[in-house]
Amino acid sequence: MSDASGALAPYAASETQGKGRRYPEAPARYRGEYQRDRDRIIHSTAFRRLVYKTQVFVNHEGDLYRTRLTHSLEVAQIARTVARALRLNEVLVEAICLAHDLGHTPFGHAGQDMLNACMKDYGGFEHNLQSLRVVDELEHKYADFPGLNLTFETREGILKHCSVRNAGGLGELGKRFLDRHQPGLEAQISNVADAIAYNNHDVDDGFRAGLLHLDQLRGQTLFANQYDQVVERYPKLDDRRLIYETIRRMINRLVTDLIEHTQATLDRLQPESIDDVRIQPKALVRFSDEVFEEHTQLKHFLNHNLYRHDKVRIMTDRAKDTVRELFDRYMRAPGEMAAEFSRQAEAEGSRKARVVADYIAGMTDRFAIAEHDRLTGIT
Ligand code: MG
Repeated sequence: MSDASGALAPYAASETQGKGRRYPEAPARYRGEYQRDRDRIIHSTAFRRLVYKTQVFVNHEGDLYRTRLTHSLEVAQIARTVARALRLNEVLVEAICLAHDLGHTPFGHAGQDMLNACMKDYGGFEHNLQSLRVVDELEHKYADFPGLNLTFETREGILKHCSVRNAGGLGELGKRFLDRHQPGLEAQISNVADAIAYNNHDVDDGFRAGLLHLDQLRGQTLFANQYDQVVERYPKLDDRRLIYETIRRMINRLVTDLIEHTQATLDRLQPESIDDVRIQPKALVRFSDEVFEEHTQLKHFLNHNLYRHDKVRIMTDRAKDTVRELFDRYMRAPGEMAAEFSRQAEAEGSRKARVVADYIAGMTDRFAIAEHDRLTGIT
């Protein structure tokens, strides 16, 4: 969908009114600016690594579980549906979604929490900020500028959260966290689509892994309502198909509600531009209260029953040890890192720690494990 089609809503992000790139570039001949952003993200090294990074289950535990890559693709397709229905910029939404997890460490949240703990005295580690760091600085691909030189709107969407302390150093991009403003609607959609995707695919992965059971899931309103309808209509379906059919209906309920509720809000407020959206005190892309309740109930359920399941916890504890030991090792012996990183790590203190954190954050699960084994002699 291009701006020229005239199909976009007045409050959609539009290339002609965009805030541009950090390093000005001539327009591409056949592609729009957000299309170019999306293409650069797909061509990045960090994007290819997502296939070997954990979502919930460590990459080598099974071939069928989501990885960060398949998660990102699911987020993008959900978000595109919402964007198109609301007449927002679908290409921008796709670019944001594909990039949203580029800064994730190996081993999912466990890896990130541990890296943040390791970096406590050196400015901390935030994965959203790291995603921005990847596209702004860490990718070395183009002759004329560092990073991917993405547009303001894509970078705004990637930076989903940011501490006030770090926002101060980000110029215009960080300003909304200080002013308590919102990003554009495309960024807001990507954010909610992320939660829709993981809530639903984690039910699927959790069930497949045998960590979640039907009777537990039937205690969740969002699941139960759809499940009961499926059983009534297809009484002979086997469990696997039953779950799939239920999940696709759950996603449909969430997406439909999100579109309709958000459209009603937009009709009521009638923002005239993306800047009208940005100055709102609250995000405009939201579920109705009823569906928000169902969605949140499921989120809490997964938190207690899947992410903190004993079997997941054994894996995450091991992942945390791996990250901690890698960090300590590289801080003591930066020469053990790849040449490009060990050269930069000659500095001391927080600059050295940041290089180590960048190096570890960029690792895939299996590379982190292999490095850990090599450095510690333990397998
Ligand atoms: Mg995500």
